[in-house]
Amino acid sequence: MPYPQRHPRQFDVCNFIDGEARESAATSWIDINSPANQAPVCRVPRSTSAEMEAAVSSAKEAFSSWRDVPVQHRSRVMFKLQGLIRERTEELAASITLEQGKTLADARGDVFRGLEVVEQACGVGAAMMGETLGGVAAGMDTYSYREPIGVCAGICPFNFPAMIPLWMFPLAIAAGNTFVMKPSEKCPGAAMKLASMASEAGLPDGVLNVIHGGHEAVDFVCDSPDIKAISFVGGNQAGEHIFARGTAAGKRVQSNMGAKNHVVVLPDAERDAAVSAVIGASFGAAGQRCMALSVAVLVGEAGGWAQDIVRGASALKVGPGWKEGVDVGPMITREARERAERLVQESQDAGADVVLDGRGVAVDGYESGNFVGPTILSGKQVGPGMSAYDSEVFGPVLCLVTVGTLEEAVGLVNSCSYGNGTSIFTRSGAAARRFQREIHAGQVGINVPVPVPLPFFSFTGSGASFRGDINFYGKQARMEYRWSEIQHDLVATITGGIRKALS
Ligand code: NAD
Repeated sequence: MPYPQRHPRQFDVCNFIDGEARESAATSWIDINSPANQAPVCRVPRSTSAEMEAAVSSAKEAFSSWRDVPVQHRSRVMFKLQGLIRERTEELAASITLEQGKTLADARGDVFRGLEVVEQACGVGAAMMGETLGGVAAGMDTYSYREPIGVCAGICPFNFPAMIPLWMFPLAIAAGNTFVMKPSEKCPGAAMKLASMASEAGLPDGVLNVIHGGHEAVDFVCDSPDIKAISFVGGNQAGEHIFARGTAAGKRVQSNMGAKNHVVVLPDAERDAAVSAVIGASFGAAGQRCMALSVAVLVGEAGGWAQDIVRGASALKVGPGWKEGVDVGPMITREARERAERLVQESQDAGADVVLDGRGVAVDGYESGNFVGPTILSGKQVGPGMSAYDSEVFGPVLCLVTVGTLEEAVGLVNSCSYGNGTSIFTRSGAAARRFQREIHAGQVGINVPVPVPLPFFSFTGSGASFRGDINFYGKQARMEYRWSEIQHDLVATITGGIRKALS
């Protein structure tokens, strides 16, 4: 991909308010540099209070008419948006690679996984149907309707700049709500492009707005009395804060947070397939996926496969995401790289063997990039109590642990505070079934390293990985973005009354 070494011109990111990109009057800006070479890409405003208020007012105003737009029309807007995203996947992917660093293949995947949620939003009519029960009393039936909540908001992380905004706004909007989105301040480009595509798809002005910034924008979203629900995806510090502050303000909040995903490899697994799956899921996207594998628990004789994992990982090519053949791109920022390296160092000091060391990896021509090569820690000391094991490194760092039995492996996985995802590699149906039933994690893979559900199902999570009562997308999305039926017993009674009056 022929990217210039330096971006030709740094530009200022706009807010997106009332259907148009509007320049910000911010006095504080966040510089975004390409993670591969620090070339300036753009500046992101910390949107002013007046701009954030304007975004919410616009969404509130738009709600009064958007909620009454026939569901078929809302669904047609989603069909159009789906087509535009498909047509412009390459443009979106290129901007993600430049700004966020991931390889072009990963960036295309980022767009595609979000596109699948838009496809779900196209079928919003069927998803929103309520329930009916006739004859609950003489001359009286009960109906449940799903009414939109109002203005919803989304707060996004850096690691999936297209997919995560698309987890949020299409379903909320298709359900008749309006939306204020705050993308990651580290890579807002894809979210801005998606907002403008949604407008082009026919979304009325004000239905989708975008504001920018860090903590102050987040607190504004939590506190604004006109915002009724918040979808958050990101780390635990922010997620716990948003859940506490948002729910205290009476909002519905769903908070998908951090992870420490273990894979268990049994000795009866298909060796090459298991090894290659572990390598891909640990180091792909530079380990910056919430479903990345960061601990491999090798059971019994599978302990001997560690050398295959090290050999395979050491063959991965590290470099800028736009270069052909690159497997592992840079980490998002210098601080993220330094933190990952520090966690490795602390663990080494605590007795871990660094059997593959990607610290200080040399990438020709990109010496200033935030690169960490695949790194593997092993040895008896690796386990609970060691910082690279306990913390979510969110980088290309894998801990290898060896245990004697499946029972020990399950105990180890379940002792982890996070519960985002986990996988097992085995040819035994009985072992797979036992694992599936005994493990505490939201997503469980059997011979699948990254078990992310398709959008007909919900993306879940347990333990410290999730706060809230309603998960993202799937059937649960209609609950997040609509009031629950309890509200509509009132409607049902009125309807029963009408029927009585008519009879
Ligand atoms: P982050 O928590 O640093 O940032 C996420 C959002 O929260 C950003 O919009 C940011 O502006 C805001 N924010 C950050 N710190 C804040 C604070 N202290 N107070 C208020 N707001 C704050 O996360 P990130 O580094 O962008 O993304 C990586 C994290 O996201 C990882 O922990 C990863 O596991 C998690 N993640 C989880 C899922 C999931 O579905 N469970 C999916 C993707 C990423």
